[in-house]
Amino acid sequence: MPVRAELDEKEEFPWEIMKELADADMFRVFIPEEYEGLGGRCLDLCLVVEELSRACGGIAICYAATALGCLPVVHHGSEEQKQKYLSDVAAGKRLAAFALTESTAGSDAGNIRTTASPEKGYYVLNGTKQFITNGGEAEIYTVIAMTDPAKGSRGASAFVVEKGTPGFSFGKKEKKMGIRSSATRELIFRDCRVPEENLIGKEGQGFIITVRTLDQSRPGVAAQAVGIAQGALEAAVNYARQRIQFGHPISSLQAVQHMLANMAIELEAARAMVYAVARTIDSGARNFAEEAAMAKVFAADMAMKVTTDAVQIFGGVGYMCDYPIEKMMRDAKITQIYEGTNQVLRNEIALQVLKRKALRE
Ligand SMILES: Cc1cc2nc3c(=O)[nH]c(=O)nc-3n(C[C@H](O)[C@H](O)[C@H](O)COP(=O)(O)OP(=O)(O)OC[C@H]3O[C@@H](n4cnc5c(N)ncnc54)[C@H](O)[C@@H]3O)c2cc1C
Repeated sequence: MPVRAELDEKEEFPWEIMKELADADMFRVFIPEEYEGLGGRCLDLCLVVEELSRACGGIAICYAATALGCLPVVHHGSEEQKQKYLSDVAAGKRLAAFALTESTAGSDAGNIRTTASPEKGYYVLNGTKQFITNGGEAEIYTVIAMTDPAKGSRGASAFVVEKGTPGFSFGKKEKKMGIRSSATRELIFRDCRVPEENLIGKEGQGFIITVRTLDQSRPGVAAQAVGIAQGALEAAVNYARQRIQFGHPISSLQAVQHMLANMAIELEAARAMVYAVARTIDSGARNFAEEAAMAKVFAADMAMKVTTDAVQIFGGVGYMCDYPIEKMMRDAKITQIYEGTNQVLRNEIALQVLKRKALRE
């Protein structure tokens, strides 16, 4: 908390805090025990992300993006890849990132143009990824590229690419509205030769791996939203108790009380959804995509509303940068956009809802 405003202002990556998280074994949380982790349970990861986000959504995402970058290796990687990468991440020695998005392919992820051409024991990568969280800071990148563009979405594959591989460099670092202590950057591949043993799963499985990875990681974004909203609610309650107008704390005004009550109700509902889907994932269930999407959409919309109302309770000072509350509102916004915008996820939820209705008829 004491450094969040400064890191946000300077857009500085929170390396010291990442080190503290490593020392506290937090990077072990999302890694299975066989690879020096603490079990790799989704609920544990959500709890850590929520608590970090309660203080700072930007710092939290530097941590959570490493979990996202590792998920393809955890669930689809070879034994050799797991041995090589996961223990280092568990120890907090190396951060990870997940690279799908390109300038022509955001929601329309099937339109990626980065190619990976097989060549004598290697894949040669060419293309540019955009908006990659932890870009430049992470050492391990899961990259989705087309091995057979003619096959469309069945022609994509997933690779581990290490920082420092010749032909892999970093481009524009984005200046952002919120989560400003996190790094969001372009990844540039120019004849970048990646050993064939870095292919995750099989050729052509890139989009299946992507979809499964994002289904698993969306509860984490939802937990980020819950944490940001929790921080905003706590700040609003504290402020309402001490701000005197008309001779009384504004917390004695029913208009303010009802805002706080609605914030608390929606926050608790979102938290329940996040924990429920995380527990479902941890139970080994295979079908949780819809619940994960629902939790993400609901929690993100809730966080936007709760942080906006918190600014309202702070009044004029809520609009000023001296207080943490405007930062929380800026940080909350991203949860409606990344890992599937809330509109795109509503499309997917609607599809499932309509399918079920059709089945009953
Ligand atoms: C800060 C930040 C960090 C990110 N980190 C990563 C990362 O680590 N790795 C990574 O791969 N990507 C990352 N992204 C990319 C992110 O996932 C995309 O920005 C997001 O998926 C939306 O894509 P887009 O920005 O191209 O928007 P577009 O797809 O162009 O969407 C623009 C608007 O159109 C709407 N829209 C588009 N298609 C539909 C549709 N079919 N139905 C209804 N509405 C639609 C969208 O909801 C949105 O409102 C990050 C983005 C940001 C901003």
